[in-house]
Amino acid sequence: MENSLDAGATRIEVEFRHGGRSYLRIEDNGSGMTRDDALLSLERHATSKIHETADLDQLHTFGFRGEALPSIASIAKFELQTRRTDAPTGTEVLINGGKLVHVRECGVAPGTRITVTHLFSAVPARRKFLKSDATESAHIIQNVRLYALACPGTAFTLIEDGRVLFQSPSCATLVERVAEIFGRQFAADLLPLEVTEDGLRLSGLIGKPGVSRAARHEMITFVNRRPVDSRTLNYALIESYATTLPKGRYPVGVLFLEMSPVAVDVNVHPAKREVRFRSDAQVRSFVIRAVLQKLRESGSGAPVVPLIGAENTTPTAPPSMPLATFRGVSAPAPAVARSPIPGGAPLNSPTGMSASLPGPSPASAPSSSAPPMHLASWRFLGTAHGDYALFETPAGVVVLDRRAAHERVWFERLQEQFVEGKVASQRLLFAVPVELDAIASALLLDRLAFLKAHGLDVGEFGRNFFRIEAVPDWIEPEAAAEFLRDVLAAAREGRLDEGNLQLAGEEWARLAAQKAVRLPETTTATDALALATQLFACEQPHTSPAGRPTHFELSRGDLARRFQRGV
Ligand code: ADP
Ligand code: MG
Repeated sequence: MENSLDAGATRIEVEFRHGGRSYLRIEDNGSGMTRDDALLSLERHATSKIHETADLDQLHTFGFRGEALPSIASIAKFELQTRRTDAPTGTEVLINGGKLVHVRECGVAPGTRITVTHLFSAVPARRKFLKSDATESAHIIQNVRLYALACPGTAFTLIEDGRVLFQSPSCATLVERVAEIFGRQFAADLLPLEVTEDGLRLSGLIGKPGVSRAARHEMITFVNRRPVDSRTLNYALIESYATTLPKGRYPVGVLFLEMSPVAVDVNVHPAKREVRFRSDAQVRSFVIRAVLQKLRESGSGAPVVPLIGAENTTPTAPPSMPLATFRGVSAPAPAVARSPIPGGAPLNSPTGMSASLPGPSPASAPSSSAPPMHLASWRFLGTAHGDYALFETPAGVVVLDRRAAHERVWFERLQEQFVEGKVASQRLLFAVPVELDAIASALLLDRLAFLKAHGLDVGEFGRNFFRIEAVPDWIEPEAAAEFLRDVLAAAREGRLDEGNLQLAGEEWARLAAQKAVRLPETTTATDALALATQLFACEQPHTSPAGRPTHFELSRGDLARRFQRGV
């Protein structure tokens, strides 16, 4: 793609199968190559892009090393077809595992088509470093999106296993391209930004206050149009939103930093996308100031994150407000109109809501009677720093991480409900509309049945448009769209593979448990003991679904040793 863009392509098509391992084709309508150039392009370090050493500092193309084509040709079956616009015919070069098979004339449209098959087939040792097809495919998709964002004027088509994942015509503006790739809803959540100062220019789109994601992958940054993964830029963005986003949530943005090529080092590993700025501090403070200023300007009553314990039922909060994820929020769940399940209790009744009410939810489950025998003699001492519950036990002292414990309890409960066919789902009176980008749509379409079986019933009603018709009983309808996006983000990372229902079910339960747990700020002795009881009734009480420890014990012996008492 970089080569295609360097060649001035206004149209690029990428097709792949099996995460690219069996087939990958990139086709463009760029300048094309003569027969001689085509052969030369496959020689190592033959680049047409640097004419003098000094050019390295004045780089305005993506490529400059002349390594990509020969490297790929050496480890796959590689076919290059190319034709200059003014040439009557094109050239075809076929290379297999680095060996030239043929060069001949061919009929082809002006531009360049590169087809790579049998990737690493001659180098099995390397092949095993490829991740699952789903992961590799996610990488390909992500890369195509990045370049599509970097070059809105170029039309892009991405095809996986014969299915068009996305197709974007040439766009006049970045925001149009963002809407094409991520959907109109996402685009509407963004603010345009453009600031120039001391040879630095920052432009692009940033999330309105309150817009956040569970993962970082929608913080997208470019330096001189090159997609980068820069700690400096990521942290600057996160810091700019520090006071307006809850813990554990990330801002969104598509940001382009432009600067003199002399002030930035891009000559690092191409796949890692690292950059080094000559002056990190200058870049950082410039970005923070630019973003903060924009956020302030836009502060026309925009929802600011409520403080801990603040009630958050304002109707102006966008549906994407992560109500349930604030640590320690003890606000009542917003009253929402839900239609009764046929034959069930009215769901907006206190009992119907109890499962999703913030509070010691697991404690309100039927199993929370008296602690079992071995916990009967536990004594709750209190909480430390909010998160940790302390108990005195006959054997010593137990410190329990309340969140980790709640998540474990929920995780097993959700799995059990599923296995027993008792997933509780609530039809919504008003279906929640969701617009997705084409990739998320494709991922979702493959998982509609899976989600429905887990209580999230989503219907398709138009290209990339969906409606959430029913939600599991542990989530508020307001939070459902965001949860769906989080689920699809996991799917995109290959963590919700519909081919492996067991693993997918676990991943679902893990995400759901995180969402379902709303930790009350304080806990009573009864609730704390109930939580401990439920935790130890779990199959795997020692770790949270994410693998963190749930508790540890300091034995009386440990205590005695620490205080150097004779035992
Ligand atoms: P680099 O991009 O660093 O120069 P590559 O190995 O990626 O090295 O490509 C080698 C050369 O092949 C390029 O310098 C360019 O001249 C030519 N080339 C590669 N792909 C294309 C393309 N899609 N269209 C036109 N020329 C291309
Ligand atoms: Mg290149």
